[in-house]
Amino acid sequence: MKEIILAKNGEIALKGLNRRRFEEVLMRNIKWRLKDFGKIKISCMQSTIYIDPEDGEFYDFDGAVEALRKIFGIASISRAAVLEKNMDDILAKVCDYIEPALFGAKTFKVEAKRSDKHFPLKSPEIAAQVGGQILSRFHRLKVDVHNPDVTVMVEIRDKGAYVHAGSIPGAGGMPVSSSGEAMVLMSGGIDSPVAAYMMAKRGLMLSAVHFQSPPYTSERALEKVETLCGQLTPYTGRIQFYCVPFTEMQEALKAHCPEELFTVMMRRMMMRVATRLAEAKGIEALITGESLAQVASQTLEALHCTDSATPLVVLRPLIGMDKGEIIRISREIGTFETSILPYEDCCTVFTPRHPATHPKLSALEKAEARFDYGPLIDRAVEGTAVKSIYGV
Ligand code: ATP
Ligand code: MG
Repeated sequence: MKEIILAKNGEIALKGLNRRRFEEVLMRNIKWRLKDFGKIKISCMQSTIYIDPEDGEFYDFDGAVEALRKIFGIASISRAAVLEKNMDDILAKVCDYIEPALFGAKTFKVEAKRSDKHFPLKSPEIAAQVGGQILSRFHRLKVDVHNPDVTVMVEIRDKGAYVHAGSIPGAGGMPVSSSGEAMVLMSGGIDSPVAAYMMAKRGLMLSAVHFQSPPYTSERALEKVETLCGQLTPYTGRIQFYCVPFTEMQEALKAHCPEELFTVMMRRMMMRVATRLAEAKGIEALITGESLAQVASQTLEALHCTDSATPLVVLRPLIGMDKGEIIRISREIGTFETSILPYEDCCTVFTPRHPATHPKLSALEKAEARFDYGPLIDRAVEGTAVKSIYGV
């Protein structure tokens, strides 16, 4: 029996005039992400993407469905049999096709959806006939329309009739790159990978920038951040990874700035370097994993001082979340175990004993005027290594 995967669009379906453009982006993302599972034809009709494996060739449906669950822009996914658009064919084949899904079930219901209005039977009649067929084949089953173990769907669409035993939820959100591109400041911690995931979910393609300070930070700390980026790629697609040498800047800050302002000044320097890298690539927004009041550098005053160092939009999707919620997402997306590996971050090098929790912008500007940091920014930008990360 011929099978197909139906991926229903989520929010895109509500997008009016721009819908087609969003659908094109989603189809392109799906094509790319499914390229290793076998040959497919892909098309979009009635807010549904049809993933149609080439006839006569093996197709890894399980692998493809698993990959689709992580692609933003999809509301639900079903693997369905493609049948002819007549009741004889549907009634002849429905039981064989759904039998594995009924294993262990005691109750079921049938739902029919007729988007092709030329089909001679109405939805309730289709459901009744298919239900009758299932009851006559599987005597142990009963109908339960309120709380069935299995819901059998019959969809009469333009191209054919599709039968399946229910859908699984997709990742929701908007297709990656449909909202443009942003650069995430990626440490090796728990928060920034979650922040990256959340903004990819709103349709942003990602670049990541990491600041490293050898010999204070090790090669393994850098590998950890690259691994985190790799773990995000099933959701985000390819990530362009920028690694910035930051030792010279940190040593200069240590030498010239008041100890209690060190962290916020370092944060401002990170913003300046990230801005240069982002602007060179036409990227208009930065993302950080900051959450209000989590640490001294994440108070309102400190965030204001950080923002003042860049003209770009700074997105902080975790700003209103507490650590427990962030950790829950981090476990769900599979970055948690890597994030808690105990390698040092450049932020923990030279950490002040008593960081200022209410820094004043004027005090920071005064401290920054004491040394010529421009050439240090230039050298950090020039020394940056770039590579593409496609997967773990
Ligand atoms: P995380 O768990 O993401 O490291 P955190 O709670 O440890 O966050 P901080 O260390 O204060 O917080 O960092 C705040 C944010 O600054 C991070 O979420 C990240 O966006 C950015 N950041 C910190 N260190 C680095 C780094 N070495 N490279 C790039 N960005 C960094
Ligand atoms: Mg950190």
